Amino acid sequence: MNDTDINDAVSRVLAGFSGAPVQAIVPAPTAAPIAPARAPAPAPASPTASSSIDETVARIMAEMAGTKVAPAAENLATAPFSDHCPTGGTDCTGCTGCEPSDGLVSFSISDEEAVTLGDGVFATMDEAVEAAAEAQRQYLFCTMQARKSFVDGIREVFVDEAFLERISRMTVEHTGMGNVGDKIIKNRLAAQKTPGIEDLKTEAVSGDDGLTLVEYSAFGVIGAITPTTNPTETIICNSIGMLAAGNSAVFSPHPRAKVVSLLAVKMINRKLATLGAPANLVVTVQAPSIDNTNAMMTHPKVRMLVATGGPSIVKTVLSTGKKAIGAGAGNPPVVVDETADIEKAAKDIVNGCSFDNNLPCIAEKEVIAVKEIADFLISQMQKNGAYLVKDPAVIKKLEELVLTPKGGPQTNCVGKSAVYLLDKVGITVGPEIRVILIELPKEHLFVREELMMPILPLVRADHVDQAIDLAVELENGNRHTAMIHSTNVRKMTKMAKLIQTTIFVKNGPSYAGIGVGGEGYTTFTIAGPTGEGLTSPKSFARRRKCVMAEALNVR
Ligand code: NAD
Repeated sequence: MNDTDINDAVSRVLAGFSGAPVQAIVPAPTAAPIAPARAPAPAPASPTASSSIDETVARIMAEMAGTKVAPAAENLATAPFSDHCPTGGTDCTGCTGCEPSDGLVSFSISDEEAVTLGDGVFATMDEAVEAAAEAQRQYLFCTMQARKSFVDGIREVFVDEAFLERISRMTVEHTGMGNVGDKIIKNRLAAQKTPGIEDLKTEAVSGDDGLTLVEYSAFGVIGAITPTTNPTETIICNSIGMLAAGNSAVFSPHPRAKVVSLLAVKMINRKLATLGAPANLVVTVQAPSIDNTNAMMTHPKVRMLVATGGPSIVKTVLSTGKKAIGAGAGNPPVVVDETADIEKAAKDIVNGCSFDNNLPCIAEKEVIAVKEIADFLISQMQKNGAYLVKDPAVIKKLEELVLTPKGGPQTNCVGKSAVYLLDKVGITVGPEIRVILIELPKEHLFVREELMMPILPLVRADHVDQAIDLAVELENGNRHTAMIHSTNVRKMTKMAKLIQTTIFVKNGPSYAGIGVGGEGYTTFTIAGPTGEGLTSPKSFARRRKCVMAEALNVR
């Protein structure tokens, strides 16, 4: 045993000592585990030379403190836990960390099994939050490498083609919204392009007064409310982002998307179990409801709320008094001026507007075309799958079909295809028709309301400046998404400055803004109202300062 060994051992013991009695190195009592089946633990990473030194140091410190000490944990440093894990060791009862399952976990979960208890699904919100809190406490002691492997594990679940197809089809069947092909693209996108732990970059400042780090640290338990329009996409994206930042996540899905949301949570839990993660890092309740969402929002152990949905739920989370991220509604306008490549603009607009039957909050919801090119744009859109409705009687029928008496969209028409909607008003078209195009005045409800169906109003403007002003008006301060097709950089810049949206796409379809055919990462929680914008792991973290005074500056 040399000086270095002793120094190292003292450091290790002190790391578990936390300034209080020496029993801090004894595994802390933990709640009863809610863990999946375990396989035999892998061999400890480094056997007992260092642990015997630790024991000696701990014993001496215990004697000095007059406290009896339990034997040192044998597998304290076993991956995926850091050597500060208080739950490792022979007395460990709390987590699966040292014991990845042996691969016998079944990933075949039927629809019936998806809604049963277990694998992260709890009977009550209180149980769900308590389990997530315990999981997060254990997660504090996992290594960054382990975090990365858990995040990668979630990705793996959702890039499996058969599973992608299944959850996408199930979502369409259960919610009655969207189309399977585009949901596959969205789910895959969430799995592949949501950022992971690399998003959490430490800042360092050093000087005569020492070294200071500013690090992204977990919030704790995060309550996440997910929409019916992107149910699994949001669970995938939020799980990756929240876990990458060291949190656990409690999901409150939309009741209409219950089965597929619970299935996603169960699959994540089973995958994480195979990787040795603490059980219940991602949880939900068996019967999602507004009451359960309220219980989650008021639970004292939920430290942050993230609402992805309409204005009502965003307002609700912002009034809880907790740290809240609000990702709310949009009404994205697209401006087309006389300098644009009109053929391309027409194609991009039809593609963006019809993506998942216009469900994405970023999708083109109204076109504002400079009058000089409006007719040509309309004709090009017709060539690319737009059906032009001019007959006032048909427009009236569509209004009656898709609007509620209050003027909002009828839920049973949200996310339906153009073929379906036209059929409902007596017009039969083929599958090549993806958008219903109607020229309307700017006051019409189809222009003002976020319909989330492929009815695309077009408003004429006298010139591009007027078009930009109208786009700002129709975006309605949501700070969400807008598009422009133009080659005039001054006008593009002007619109960007005035409209202040989180996403601003130039010369592309709206989905380029979330990484489909456009550079950059994806997110399905676009937080305009609260300013985080395109959320990523650091949106779900706190910035904490760690100061070493008068030392460690080596410049
Ligand atoms: P929604 O607001 O009806 O529901 C969203 C979630 O909130 C659901 O889980 C629902 O059960 C819950 N909820 C709603 N009102 C609640 C209340 N008063 N108390 C407790 N829980 C409540 O929205 P939706 O129809 O599921 O989704 C579509 C909306 O979400 C659109 O407005 C769309 O623009 C928006 N959205 C925004 C983003 C974004 O990133 N900004 C992403 C997807 C969807």
